[in-house]
Amino acid sequence: MNKHKLIIIGGGIAGLSSAFYAQKQNLDFLLIESGARLGGVINTQKTSLNYILEQGPNSLALGSTLKEITNNLNIALLPAQAIAKKKLIFINNKLIAINSLTGLFEVLSLKTFFKIAQEFFHKTPIASQNISIGEFFENHFGAEIVNNLLWPILSGIYAGNPYKLEFASVFPELYKISQNHPSLLMGLIKDKPTAKFKREIFSTESGLFGLIEQIQSFIPPEKIILNIPITSIKEKEAGFIINNSFQTEKIILAVPAYIACNLCPEFLADLNQIYYAPIITLNFWLKESKEPSGVAYLDQYKNAFGFLSARPQNTPLLGTVFNSALFPSHAPNMAITCFIGGANYPELINCSLEEIQKIALQELIKALPQTTESDFELKNYKYWPQGIPQYNLGHRALIEAVQAKLPQNLKLAGNYLKGISLEDSAYSGKTALRELFG
Ligand SMILES: Cc1cc2nc3c(=O)[nH]c(=O)nc-3n(C[C@H](O)[C@H](O)[C@H](O)COP(=O)(O)OP(=O)(O)OC[C@H]3O[C@@H](n4cnc5c(N)ncnc54)[C@H](O)[C@@H]3O)c2cc1C
Repeated sequence: MNKHKLIIIGGGIAGLSSAFYAQKQNLDFLLIESGARLGGVINTQKTSLNYILEQGPNSLALGSTLKEITNNLNIALLPAQAIAKKKLIFINNKLIAINSLTGLFEVLSLKTFFKIAQEFFHKTPIASQNISIGEFFENHFGAEIVNNLLWPILSGIYAGNPYKLEFASVFPELYKISQNHPSLLMGLIKDKPTAKFKREIFSTESGLFGLIEQIQSFIPPEKIILNIPITSIKEKEAGFIINNSFQTEKIILAVPAYIACNLCPEFLADLNQIYYAPIITLNFWLKESKEPSGVAYLDQYKNAFGFLSARPQNTPLLGTVFNSALFPSHAPNMAITCFIGGANYPELINCSLEEIQKIALQELIKALPQTTESDFELKNYKYWPQGIPQYNLGHRALIEAVQAKLPQNLKLAGNYLKGISLEDSAYSGKTALRELFG
């Protein structure tokens, strides 16, 4: 039987981050991945001419963990163009840039600005742990801010519903502030949160998978095993037996919650309550022949990160990323990734590609009205039946209860714990290793 000090199960960014820090400490460890490659949902495809099509995450917002890893490995990150700072909201059938005050005045009414000013004098008691983002913000600032700003932002990040997502889990720092101050805005001024809301956006020249390849190349190949799905973990003496084949003192379990719950049901069964919203990604390019006609109109919009859909639009198109604006070297002409479905339209995951493509294009041309469906060419697509974990009401208590039951030598990592971004997932992997080995 193979014996190790540590086995990391799952080779997404969370497991790879644990493996990076384990390798830095020169630990005796093994990373076991069920798939044929590392990276998990990072799914970079290339066209015949080596242009980039991202089917999973499109870019990363660099925080301290990924900064540390990429600096250490001298990974050449590709920064997004400055124009990516421009964020658009699709509302009242038009695209509005919300970076400026004038844009915000188009998205929010005077009544809401008045409510924002009034919030400084908010007197209601502190938020309970069991409050949704929608409920909290509606209570403090009115429904419009939820529908026109939070709905699109949370659709873009979580493919979720603000009235189901838990405030304490999605915005832990704001939740903490709201525990001490009846007015959130006053609390923000007094407590000065440490979380960085504006992070730089990156990829690599070869897309996000380039990051995975470079982290992988730092880890000796004999420490990585692919194509082995872990199906059982049993406690034995001071450690564990995995798949009746591997023995280890410690485990980092970096697989999705819906897999983890079956591997050691005695501690993790409750993780099956975490719902993963389905999502479909479609990579479109504006056809080259069409570009000149559409370009005059599109120019004002295509120099932006992309757009997110406000609630009143009532659309299954959660949002889009204008990949060619972020990373011009990734595409020869205008490239747009569309995200369809999410927690509010879960049934769409059962639609055929033809149906989904039609829905995506119908919605896309509403936002870009001088284009027609035939202007776009579908380059690639991917269905994610269990795409994004939802930090719905009860999430925080559930995670705390599960963590409390865990044996000391088993830690969890992954996007259902500390945030769903690549940065947060990598941070969860780093934290798990630190908790086991200091
Ligand atoms: C469509 C989409 C778009 C996104 N866009 C962005 C974005 O633009 N920016 C951003 O920051 N984040 C984005 N995210 C979120 C982010 O990409 C993920 O949250 C993060 O990559 C998850 O990493 P992970 O390691 O926790 O999980 P995963 O990537 O799911 O990795 C888990 C790994 O465990 C393996 N595994 C599963 N079962 C077993 C088993 N039994 N034995 C061994 N191995 C197993 C899997 O094969 C997989 O490799 C997006 C996510 C999706 C789905």
